[in-house]
Amino acid sequence: MTSGTGGGRLLVVEDEATVRELLAATLRFAGFEVTSVATAGEAVVAAIGEPPDLVLLDVMLPDMDGFEVVRRLRDRRVTVPVLFLTARDAQADKVTGLSLGADDYVTKPFDLEELIARIRAILRRTAGHHTGVLTVGALALDPDGHQVTRDGLPLRVTATEFRLLRYLMENAGHVVSKAQILDRVWHYDFAGDASIVDTYISYLRRKVDVGEPRLIQTVHGVGYVMREPRR
Ligand code: CA
Repeated sequence: MTSGTGGGRLLVVEDEATVRELLAATLRFAGFEVTSVATAGEAVVAAIGEPPDLVLLDVMLPDMDGFEVVRRLRDRRVTVPVLFLTARDAQADKVTGLSLGADDYVTKPFDLEELIARIRAILRRTAGHHTGVLTVGALALDPDGHQVTRDGLPLRVTATEFRLLRYLMENAGHVVSKAQILDRVWHYDFAGDASIVDTYISYLRRKVDVGEPRLIQTVHGVGYVMREPRR
């Protein structure tokens, strides 16, 4: 999973055969190990089966668009970096792609040297960091590196706050009760008041959830859920 000295493992997803073959040949020549597929369905299967170091993902694919591919990968907690290849120059596409956690995009027709430079830049940034990193919106938590970032900026949290945040992020999209949180984060049979959970949630919010949108949401009478609010 590291980019190593050789270049890195790339998954190229492009339905247009001539472009796909050109990309695969060029990137192999540049020292990358390349797997290429023509459909979004194959891309999801390939990226989940054996996550590459980077996915080069065409936006316009016959079966579903590239954005949907990224959604499916993120749903499966596959946090592989994505570089979109888009023929569409629309600003909306770029914003959609980047808000989904894409790392970069290039607009077709692209310059191959520039494309390779962008690929190398992403691999340098993400080398060794993308396995197991949990993300919700702009927030990322790296369990191995014990690091939390929002919009790429590191945040300081205590060990307990880190465990709490990790539990919420591992269950992103699912409501967790205070009892579940106590059990999983405090581990022992906590005899005290469950309001300790509320206290720590408020500590966490002040540190990691100061910007918009708010990611830690209260579900009254039930518990908490971490998710990006729907617009
Ligand atoms: Ca296409």
